Amino acid sequence: MTTTQVLNNALGAYLGFACGDALGATVEFMTPKQIQKRFGVHQDIVGGGWLNLEAGQVTDDTQMSLTIGQAIIDTQGWNIQAVADNFVTWLESDPPDIGNTCRRGITRYRESGVLAGLPSHDDAGNGACMRNLPVVLATLNRPDFFSEWSLQQCHITHNNPLSDAATLTVGRIANHLIQGLDMDTCRQEAERLIQQYSEFSYCPYLGKTSGYIVDTVQTILHYFFSTDSFEACLIATVNQGGDADTTGALAGMLAGAKYGVQQIPDRWLKQLDPQVVYKIRQQTIELMQIA
Ligand code: MN
Ligand code: MN
Repeated sequence: MTTTQVLNNALGAYLGFACGDALGATVEFMTPKQIQKRFGVHQDIVGGGWLNLEAGQVTDDTQMSLTIGQAIIDTQGWNIQAVADNFVTWLESDPPDIGNTCRRGITRYRESGVLAGLPSHDDAGNGACMRNLPVVLATLNRPDFFSEWSLQQCHITHNNPLSDAATLTVGRIANHLIQGLDMDTCRQEAERLIQQYSEFSYCPYLGKTSGYIVDTVQTILHYFFSTDSFEACLIATVNQGGDADTTGALAGMLAGAKYGVQQIPDRWLKQLDPQVVYKIRQQTIELMQIA
């Protein structure tokens, strides 16, 4: 892999993530049947949804990722306090949506300076795993830092073994794909997670898509491994409904990392909020320089 190819994959991952967020948000919390009735196949970034978004607007998934990316760039490395401070600034910016566990953790930090909650069964939501891509990019060549930084940012809001394991596995798969490793290596990574926590098993795929991290990982792995293009992966994933902006974002991240930025359909990239595209392009380059 040349440096240019790696950068194209990294850009594919980050822009693919934002495309999945914007595409999936339209059908978030809908069932596959409701989506089918309303759209046939949902395949265009048209906004709307329960958040009543503009076409191309992204949600908390992309916004929280950008806040972590910015903290890494501003401190040229890892400073967990800077990450938490950026979360507070974001919370106070009146974001379009925010998960309950995220709100609770950020509020706890704002009020008491506590950077990690106690381990909790209730923290197995998607909120920590969904925002970890900037850590993947900044630690591409430093796997030892990857675990430490990832778990620290997770624990500001989510302290749960399933959330931790999912975040590390999904991030490692993204790393392998960005560096051009083969699909066998990625499947082995997924198998390791399932050996550790059998609930993540996605064969046969049961079609569950909720805010529960186990459902999310099953969904993105199923559609990522069973499709053969960026577009097919994203469309299949979001039409499964449920937490569709988050599954869309994470599936878009994996597919973008594998197929590269050049496979992201023009109609999606053009529709995406230009400011978000600009920030992602800039952050990707600056985060890769840290790696
Ligand atoms: Mn969201
Ligand atoms: Mn969501």
